[in-house]
Amino acid sequence: MRMPDRLDGGSGRGFFIEDAGYPDFVNWLVEQNALTMSKHVLRFLLRRGWSRLSHSPRSEVGRQLSGVVGKGLLTATSLPLLGMGRDVPNGRMRLRDGYLDLDWDTAASDAYFDRVNRTMRELSSTLGGRYASDPLSYLNRLITVHPLGGAPMGRNREEGVVNSYGEVYGCPGLSIADGSIMPGPVGSNPSLTIAALADRSADRIIDGFRR
Ligand SMILES: Cc1cc2nc3c(=O)[nH]c(=O)nc-3n(C[C@H](O)[C@H](O)[C@H](O)COP(=O)(O)OP(=O)(O)OC[C@H]3O[C@@H](n4cnc5c(N)ncnc54)[C@H](O)[C@@H]3O)c2cc1C
Repeated sequence: MRMPDRLDGGSGRGFFIEDAGYPDFVNWLVEQNALTMSKHVLRFLLRRGWSRLSHSPRSEVGRQLSGVVGKGLLTATSLPLLGMGRDVPNGRMRLRDGYLDLDWDTAASDAYFDRVNRTMRELSSTLGGRYASDPLSYLNRLITVHPLGGAPMGRNREEGVVNSYGEVYGCPGLSIADGSIMPGPVGSNPSLTIAALADRSADRIIDGFRR
């Protein structure tokens, strides 16, 4: 689901909401947490024991086994939502005692995050669902699997580390061709944009050899 930007007819900063499809084995992990699993197994063993003791001719192994697995209602009725968008890229990464440290205050992105949350809430209410936001967001902690930036491109060395071809300012012959050169989020999932930039950078390197 795409929410437009002020650049394409909407307002504020645009974003996508995506359905986080996950593999079936994750359903099992979610459903079969240690507590429910041990309760179900205990009930199964008690029922099997009773069937043996009572010499009942009625086999209920199938039903009892499916009781161990459970109804799977939590995962069957859950829809994880992902928000991909253009929060304000005003953080700074630096090395502190040899480790990467990120200094990022999300205040400038508050209106954007509120809009993503509000839209997800409306979406789940329209679907008749109950909305639960990521618990880490209450601690002002965000999760991303799209780490970008660090050596961002800019129009000159004051503005960025590399130019639009990934060439490092002040280090002729050194190019960077990965997500670190993105000056901010692209809005959608970034890997094709990163690949396109890397392709452009590689063409430039080859052209340099030809010259
Ligand atoms: C769970 C998950 C799901 C994702 N889903 C999507 C998706 O659906 N669509 C999408 O567009 N993007 C997705 N992404 C994001 C996408 O994978 C990344 O944005 C993209 O791969 C980043 O490319 P990159 O070249 O910058 O870095 P990477 O692909 O991370 O490449 C970095 C490489 O450097 C190597 N490396 C690291 N340190 C060293 C070292 N010291 N020496 C030598 N090599 C080193 C690593 O092994 C790795 O091969 C997803 C990411 C995750 C984690």
